[in-house]
Amino acid sequence: MVLGIDLGGTKIAAQIFNDHWQIQHSKRIATPRHYRGLTAALTDLVRWAETATGAVLPVGIGSAGLINPADGLALAANLPIAGNPFPAHISEAVGRPVTCLNDSRALTLSEAVLGAGQGCRTVLGLVLGTGVGGGIAIDGRLLEGPSQTGGEFGHVSASAALVAQYGLPLVPCGCGRTGCVETLISGAGLSRIGAVTMGQVLDAPAIAARRGVDPAAQAAWDIWCALVADLVRGLILTVDPDCIVLGGGLSQILGIATDLRAAVTTAQFSGFPVPPIYLAQGGDISGARGAAYAAVMAQR
Ligand SMILES: [Zn+2]
Repeated sequence: MVLGIDLGGTKIAAQIFNDHWQIQHSKRIATPRHYRGLTAALTDLVRWAETATGAVLPVGIGSAGLINPADGLALAANLPIAGNPFPAHISEAVGRPVTCLNDSRALTLSEAVLGAGQGCRTVLGLVLGTGVGGGIAIDGRLLEGPSQTGGEFGHVSASAALVAQYGLPLVPCGCGRTGCVETLISGAGLSRIGAVTMGQVLDAPAIAARRGVDPAAQAAWDIWCALVADLVRGLILTVDPDCIVLGGGLSQILGIATDLRAAVTTAQFSGFPVPPIYLAQGGDISGARGAAYAAVMAQR
């Protein structure tokens, strides 16, 4: 058995999986606002898992943000772990090594091994939501490197050609740069595009719902798809994945996989194949499952 924890900005979801990756026990709590409370809550969840199973389990935590391998400190916008050596502290509190990884990487791993990407050698995970992230898994393992920033696709620059063509705004990103593609393809990004084509600010689901009936909403959606497709095109040119798995809140939009596949086909070299685009199968447990899987792999 193994404990996977999905650490989000508003809630923490803990799942205990058995050897067949079925959920044995689950627990959800609100995310504490302060660092000390957060590490205490996570430690309590590990103790809960030990009590529930009577075993010392491997522990994996998937969370937003990054751990800088240079100093071990966390960088995160919506979690009170920023500036703290989170993995070191939580391992110390629990009393054994805890596997920490980015939540988009966790989803990618989960989907590659146990979800929509099963059977594909190279799986590109793309998480489209409040932020934009992802990961690459090859042969059931995450592609990881010395900076630990691989998969931060949201902070690739948006296509200058598309920004100019559609008169899109270049706005500062949370990372400190200006013009990151996340500022145009996150949920807030689709709203920004909608403001240009529709002259009013609507949230992403409202714009998606008006496609087909409102040409200006359809135009916003088409531009959004073109921007995502341009990002995907760059990733195809780099790693040539066998499939793409979509996660995040925006992946719930009806028809998104079909529309993105069409946009990627347009962006790809004429006549060349494009990978299939699937929706993540793991639902809201995929992050915890990926973190749990990473924890099991770390023990091997
Ligand atoms: Zn950025």
